[in-house]
This record gives sequence, structure tokens and C-alpha cells, in this order.
Amino acid sequence: MGFKVAIIGRPNVGKSTLFNRLVGKKLALVDDTPGVTRDRRVHAAKLYDLYFDVIDTAGFEDAAASTLPGRMRQQTEIAIREADLIFFTVDVKSGLMPDDRTFAEVVRKSGKPVVLVANKAEARGAQGGMLEAWELGLGEPIPVSAEHGQGMPDLRDAVIEALGQERAFGEDEDESDEIAASEVLIGEDIADPDAEPAYDDTKPLRIAVVGRPNAGKSTLINALIGEERLLTGPEAGITRDSISVDWDWRGRRIKLFDTAGMRRKSRIHEKLEVMSVQDGLRAIRFAEIVIIVLDATIPFEKQDLQIADLIIREGRAPVIAFNKWDLIDNPQELLAELREKTGRLLPQARGIQAVTVSAETGRGLDRLMDSVIKTHKVWNSRVSTGKLNRWLEGILAHHPPPAVAGRRLKIKYVTQAKTRPPGFVVSCSRPDAMPQSYVRYLTNSLREAFDMPGVPIRMALRTSD
Ligand code: GDP
Ligand code: GDP
Repeated sequence: MGFKVAIIGRPNVGKSTLFNRLVGKKLALVDDTPGVTRDRRVHAAKLYDLYFDVIDTAGFEDAAASTLPGRMRQQTEIAIREADLIFFTVDVKSGLMPDDRTFAEVVRKSGKPVVLVANKAEARGAQGGMLEAWELGLGEPIPVSAEHGQGMPDLRDAVIEALGQERAFGEDEDESDEIAASEVLIGEDIADPDAEPAYDDTKPLRIAVVGRPNAGKSTLINALIGEERLLTGPEAGITRDSISVDWDWRGRRIKLFDTAGMRRKSRIHEKLEVMSVQDGLRAIRFAEIVIIVLDATIPFEKQDLQIADLIIREGRAPVIAFNKWDLIDNPQELLAELREKTGRLLPQARGIQAVTVSAETGRGLDRLMDSVIKTHKVWNSRVSTGKLNRWLEGILAHHPPPAVAGRRLKIKYVTQAKTRPPGFVVSCSRPDAMPQSYVRYLTNSLREAFDMPGVPIRMALRTSD
């Protein structure tokens, strides 16, 4: 609380996206409440334990469109003057433009504390832009992806470093009505034991790559991390015959379980394939997200479906890579067919992410990793008891449990008992009598309502007395 941030940068670098991420829907709604008088141009924002205001500079680009660069600059200067801290934002995907330097100059002259936000850092080829960003003379660029919510912990740390602990946490503010009001809000937030915690993207995301022999697993792994890394960088694995490789994907730490079977591939004989299934199982147990590599020219063999089923039963989330897409003549048709099949053959985790790639050419790898990260977020998701029970009210009103032996089954409440994968406990009158079909209905409805595609969802029934 207490400090104001202005997000400054040329058009299209992602200022609005960052603004929305910091302000979030929940807090934006607070502003719309009648009777809450706030400056409409200032919005309450939150970054983990930091609470502050962001100045809405959304109108500034219209000013630019009226071909009055002078006015745009003037507006920017006003925002900078009001702010205690500047998020100077650049787009490291496209690289620096002359306008970036012009704006940076204005910011530097203001003498205000600055955090240099290197946005779109998840994009392929962002590394060059990161290096260029140093040239602005605004300190260390902080790689983030406003769109995907990556790099937020580093952004938090950078704010504290730029402002100092005291100002960042508002300890130097005097008491005033406005602050008292926002403290109530914060207090509630912290006091809620059921608050949905932010997704932690600082820990390495553990991935395994599985699939039938010749699907292209080794080629894919090599394309993802680079041949050299595989040969020189691996550290000893947790088990004797399983090796993990650590690497970064667009600033996200990844730990990949590379099975011995894959690594010794050239020496594999057919009779050793049994062993590589064992390796696969071990890899699945270690991983959070499992990439299933399918040869798009011969997809969905029985063994592929068994692997997918195993992954889901182990509580891991699958992401499908339809590989060798470069060999496909009718990509549109085939993709539609494969999507349909994925849904039909794997209903246990409706909405599995499926991406077309070519490990050989490197096409689609960005999308694959985006899907992995997206799925990982869903796998980690937590829904508050309040939201769950509002959802349950709707269910009970429109599609209540059936009557069994003349007595209607009753559901009292639902809570989320665990994450990774999401697991829910349903308190009901007679768990044993609850039909499986109704449990499936609840699961699917919950998946829809809280947007949790493609991951296993556990549902346990418990007596409510
Ligand atoms: P503004 O003009 O600076 O407010 O930029 P916007 O927030 O409107 O974003 C411009 C474009 O960049 C939009 O198409 C966004 O979807 C995209 N964008 C924003 N943040 C990111 C990001 O982190 N990564 C990528 N790849 N694109 C982004
Ligand atoms: P693994 O047994 O699953 O590790 O499969 P490999 O990575 O060894 O690949 C098996 C064969 O498929 C090799 O001949 C690769 O060159 C080939 N391959 C792998 N990925 C692709 C791809 O995307 N396109 C094409 N055309 N061939 C590929």
C-alpha cells in the first residue's frame, strides 16, 4: 500500500496486459462498487505480499494516435510525476525500437526509481532483446511474461530492491482513512485461510517425455534442450538408470527426466524395449507433466492409450505432442481428427492439451512448452471453499443427486483437499449409494466451472454426519 506505480513504454510492449495482471479482476471490481470513491485512474494492485496502486495509462495511446507525440510525452510525464516507481516496459521479443530509447530518456531524467520490465521473455529469440535492454541504462532487465504470468516473483523482488523494504511495505506511511480502508482489504485477504495462493513459477517444473520407440522422443528432447546440453550437462539422476537434465525455457526452470533407455538409444535392441517401459513408469512417477510423443503418421496405438491412462491414474497431467507433423499432407483434416480422437479416447482428463510439432525442424516447440506450463498451472490450481459451495448450490438446484431406494441423496458441501492434481472431498449423506455416473457428472461440471482442462481430478466421498 502507499506507493504508486506507472507502467511506461511505447505502444504494444504489453503495458495493458501487465496492468491487468497486477490489478486482477477481483480488485478492479472493488473500484466499481458504488460509494467507493477512488480516483478512476488509479487501481489497487497486488504482487504477492506487495500492495500498491497502478496508474492507468490506457488512454495515452489514443493521444499518440492523434499524431501528437508531444501530447503523449506530456501525459507520460504526468504519470511519471505522480508515480513513486516506474515499470519501464520493453518488448524483448521484438527488440528495442527508437521509441524505447526516447521514453527511457524521459524516465531516466525524472530520477524516479525504475524497474526495467523485459516483457514477452517467454518468446523464442527473446535473448537478443534481453541483451539490448541493458543498453537503456536503467539497470538489470527483469524477464517476465505478462501474458503468461511468468517472472512475477522476480518482479516482486525488483520492486523491493528499487524502493527499499520500508517503502515497499508501506511502513513509512502515516495513518489516514484511505490507508485504513485498504488495510481492511488486505487484512481480510491474509486472514482467509482459504485464499487461493499464487502459482509458484520459481521451482523447476518436472517433465518426462514418453512414447513408443521411434516416435521421436530423443529428437524432441535434443531439440528442446540442445544436443550439447544433453551430452555435457546432465547431473546424476535420483535412480541409477534415470537421469535428469536441468535447463531453462524462456526463464522458466525445467527439470527433465531423461531415461537411460533413451540415452542409450543407439545401443537398444528390440528385446530391451520391455525395460524402457519400466523406465517410462519411473519417469512418470517423478514428473509433474508428462509429454506423450506420438508419431502423427501412426497415432493412438493401443500402447499410447495405455501410457496416457497410466499417467492419469498416477495423477500426472499429460500433454500430447503429435510429432513428425512435417510429414503430414493434410494437416487441417488430420488435426481435426486427432483432436476428436483425443477427446473420445481419453475422457478421463477431458481437454488434454494436444500440440502438433516437428522435433526434426523445431516447429511447434514453443506451443508445446506453453501447453506444458498451462497444464502445470491447472494441475496446481486451487479453488476456495466459498466458490466451490456457490457452484454446488447451482448444481443442487438444477441437477441434484438422484433418489436411491426412495430416499434422496444429500450433498452438504465440497472442499478442495489437495492440489497436484486437484482433489476434492464431497460430504454427502450416503457415499456408498452415490452412483458413479453422478460422481462423473460432478467431476465434469467442476472441471468446466473452474476451467481445469486436461488434468486428472480426484473426487472423494465422505459421510457428512
Ligand atoms: P500495450 O500497447 O503496451 O498496452 O500492449 P498490450 O498489453 O496491448 O499488448 C500488446 C500485444 O502484446 C498484445 O497482442 C498482447 O497479447 C501481447 N503481449 C503482451 N504481453 C505478452 C507476453 O508476455 N508475451 C507475448 N508473447 N505477448 C505478449
Ligand atoms: P525415439 O525412439 O522415440 O527416441 O525416436 P527418435 O528420436 O530416435 O526418432 C526416431 C526416428 O524418427 C528418427 O529417424 C528421427 O530422425 C525421426 N524423427 C523424429 N522426429 C521427427 C520429425 O519431427 N519429423 C520427421 N520427419 N522425422 C522425425
